[in-house]
Order: sequence, then structure tokens, then C-alpha cells
Amino acid sequence: MYEDVSLDPRVANGEGRDPASGHARPPRREFKARGSFVERCEGCNLPTLNCLCPFRVETDSCAEVWLLTHPLEHHKPTNTGRLIGDVLSATRVFTWYRTAPDPDLLALLEDSRYAPFVIFPDDQPDYAERVVGMPAVERAKQQAKIPVFIIIDGTWRQARRIFRKSPYLDALPVLPLRTQRQTRYRLRKPASQAHLCTAEVAIELLRQAGDIDAAEILDDYFDAFNDSYASSRTYHKIEQPTPAMRRLLSRQGRWPASATE
Ligand SMILES: [Zn+2]
Repeated sequence: MYEDVSLDPRVANGEGRDPASGHARPPRREFKARGSFVERCEGCNLPTLNCLCPFRVETDSCAEVWLLTHPLEHHKPTNTGRLIGDVLSATRVFTWYRTAPDPDLLALLEDSRYAPFVIFPDDQPDYAERVVGMPAVERAKQQAKIPVFIIIDGTWRQARRIFRKSPYLDALPVLPLRTQRQTRYRLRKPASQAHLCTAEVAIELLRQAGDIDAAEILDDYFDAFNDSYASSRTYHKIEQPTPAMRRLLSRQGRWPASATE
């Protein structure tokens, strides 16, 4: 879940406006070249300058992540929800449409193999009786069910709307993420360091639910994504893999484990 922020740094700092009239100026060519015309890898959708594909490590976890994604979020290359599916192949992605719930999601919510939890803050009183903690996830495992973290993928505003306007979520327990983690996401400006992006929410949930290995791989992959993307924005090619990249390569046997520290 992200804050709504302008993705155009020139508009954010006022450069995109004509100081005389206050009207927005048409984008200059070099700005367009940064976004629209940059050559992207078909595998990871990152600029080819620092492709993420070599660092992709697949693993599995006891708990599953299902993303309920706002339609506007799918096409943003800075979206981090997709990183979860790269690492955990059991991840499911559903596009949210207010008037047309995904029939596959509705069927899965009725499937007794799963114990789904909606991940959402517990800051409003009207659903307080639905709020649970990590012990509920543990109980689901003891009952031989697969815990499912349903993470709403969109801006905070979109997430609130999805939470409020999806009747099929109303019967589910609400699991707020409690963590001291500060965001390390560098591609959009958070309103607060406590606001985690979607991949970070999944990482901390997996960690707390005991899927330590999956959490660590996803955390490293998330760091590799951040560094790769941020460097490409300044046309900088990463020549030496970062520590997170080295750990991912070492898991694939493509970097000596002794050299990862
Ligand atoms: Zn790639």
C-alpha cells in the first residue's frame, strides 16, 4: 500500500510549471526519455541497464499471499506487489473491480483448505471485533489450513476504498501488521517511514508467521529491485553486485557463499 504522490519529480518541485502563468509546461524531451522511451526487459520490466532477472530466486512458504490489486497499480513499473509472485510461485493476483468481483477469488474464499486474513490497519472501531493477531495464523496452521495473507495493493486511498467496498471481505478476520520496520522503498516517496510498500508488508508477515527463508529471499530481492531501479533512473550501471544481490546469487550457486558477507 502506497501513498498518493506525484511520480513526476519536476512537478513535485515546481519545475514543471511556467513561473509566469503557473500552468503546467509540456514535458521536456529528456524527461520523457527517462520514462516512456526507456528500454525495458521483458522478463522483469526494469530498464535493461540493470535487469533484475539474474537475481530471481523462487522458493515456497507455509503461508500464501494473495494480492487484491487496484487496476491502476498493475502497469506501474515501480509496483512491488509483483516481486512477491516472482519469489513465491503460489502467489495469486486478483484485479479489483468494485462492481465485478473476481469469481476465482470468491471461489477460493469458500475453499476450506485456506484460512484467509485481510491485512489492514485496525485504526477504525467499526470492525474491531474482526481484528486478530499472529496467534490466529498459528491456530490455522495447527488446523492444517493454509494461512493466506490478502494484501490490498494500491495507494492508501485505493486500499481503504477496496477494503470498504468489497462485501466478500466483510466476513474475514482482519490482521493488522505490527512491525517496527521502516520502509526501505526508494522509488516513491512515502508519507511516513512507517508506511511500508506492498512487498515489505509481505516480507514482515512471512517473517512473523515463521516463513523466515521466504522472507529473507524476498527482502533481498526487494533490495535488489530498489537498487537496480534507482540506479537506472540516474543511468548508472551497477558493476559490482550489492550484498543482497550476492546473497541471491549465492543461493543459486552462482556466487561463493563465503563471499556474501
Ligand atoms: Zn530482466
